[in-house]
Order: sequence, then structure tokens, then C-alpha cells
Amino acid sequence: MMLTDDELLRYSRHLLLDEFGIEGQMKLKESQVTLIGCGGLGHPVALYLAAAGVGSIHLYDADTVEVSNLQRQVGFTTDDIGQAKAQSLKKRLLSLNPLINVKTWDKNLGIDMSEEEVQALKSSQLIIDCSDNFETRYLANCLSLQYKTPLVMGAAIEYQGLAALLNMTSQSPCYACIFDEEDQAPAQVRCSEAGVFAPLLGIVGSTLASLSLHALLGHHQPDKLYSWDLKHHRIRQSSIEQNPRCSCQA
Ligand SMILES: [Zn+2]
Repeated sequence: MMLTDDELLRYSRHLLLDEFGIEGQMKLKESQVTLIGCGGLGHPVALYLAAAGVGSIHLYDADTVEVSNLQRQVGFTTDDIGQAKAQSLKKRLLSLNPLINVKTWDKNLGIDMSEEEVQALKSSQLIIDCSDNFETRYLANCLSLQYKTPLVMGAAIEYQGLAALLNMTSQSPCYACIFDEEDQAPAQVRCSEAGVFAPLLGIVGSTLASLSLHALLGHHQPDKLYSWDLKHHRIRQSSIEQNPRCSCQA
């Protein structure tokens, strides 16, 4: 596979960067990612990965676009109201970059996966979790662990956001090492109840896009947790480690 003249021109500002170049761009072109959730965090991730030329993007979302989504889900337009989110985002991504493939699953990631879904997930080099509930987050974590596929995850509520890169090597922590399932589930709050500051999703989502592109380019990145408080414009980085009592580790 080669880059076409169209691609050389389209991606020229990335091709100029150190540790990117034609080799890096080819890696992106040959990459497949699964993005879970086409909401406020999923939008910046999907838009940046599509614009950067990630060859195949699989989108999961069961919801339809509502007017209250438009305050932060910047890939949608008012005309998309009532349409399936994954379909609408696919249309937006392909209008941004017709040189990539986008596949949609108009459903939530669930344990009842079809063989086609399992194969698609297994052939993804990266799983990106932008879902808005703990159930999906723990399932995405378990599947990433099972397939040894790196996981990039993000969450945002009110003015607080977090992002994590979990490489899923034998030394890596998993999501459940950091956030114990039994501690977290009762505390679940949704954006529809608590609200969410729109630019937070751009900051956390762009960080997820950056972590994802570096991972696909094969750049070494340690397992790490980032957290933001946009009420006071604070950001924190934490190193994370395996928890020997984690319920997910064999
Ligand atoms: Zn764990």
C-alpha cells in the first residue's frame, strides 16, 4: 500500500512532523479503531482521527440526536435531530475525509455481540471508550484485557474530566485496578442530571485523540491517568499501577 497524491497533500502538515512522516501516516491508514459512544467526548476523538486519516473507524451508539446534545456534540447539526447518532457522525466524518472507512453499530456495546462484532473488535488496534456509563466502561475494559488491545478511556461530568491510557500489557493496570466496580457503580451520575461544561469535552476528547494517535503510531506512552478541573483550570497527571486485588486480573 502507498499514499496517493491526494493523501500526501491532505496529510502534509502531519507528514512534516518528527516521528510521523510517511511511515507514520501509512500506519494510521492501515489502522482500525473501535470508538464506543458518539457523544460529547466521542466527537472530538472521531473528528481528529478521521481528519488524521485513521483508515477504519467503528462507531458504537444506540441513541438518536436530541436538541440538548448540540451544546457540546459539535459534529452534529440541527438537521441531525432525530437521526441515529452513529449514522449522523459517520456522515460528518466521511464529509470531512472521504478517504477513510467508517462502520457503524447502532447499538450499545453489550455482552450479546454478534460474531461480526467480535471479529471487528479483535481486529481493532485500539479501543476508545467514550461511553457515559460504568456498565459499558467495565465491559470495554474486560474486552480490552481479553484481547490485549490498548484502551484509551475518558469521562466528563460538570467541570471534572478524566482520561486514561491503559496499554494492557502484562504489567499494565486495567480500568478496574484504578476504579473498583463496587465503589463506583452507586456513584454513577449522568450528564442529563448533573450537567457538563462543553469545553471540558473538547479538552478531554482532544487528549484522547492525541493518546490514540500516538498509540497507533507506535510511540511509547506509559499507563497514565489525567484529570481536569475546569472550574479552576487545574490539570493533574498520575502514574497508575496494577492492583493485586483487582477483580479483572487472572
Ligand atoms: Zn485490573
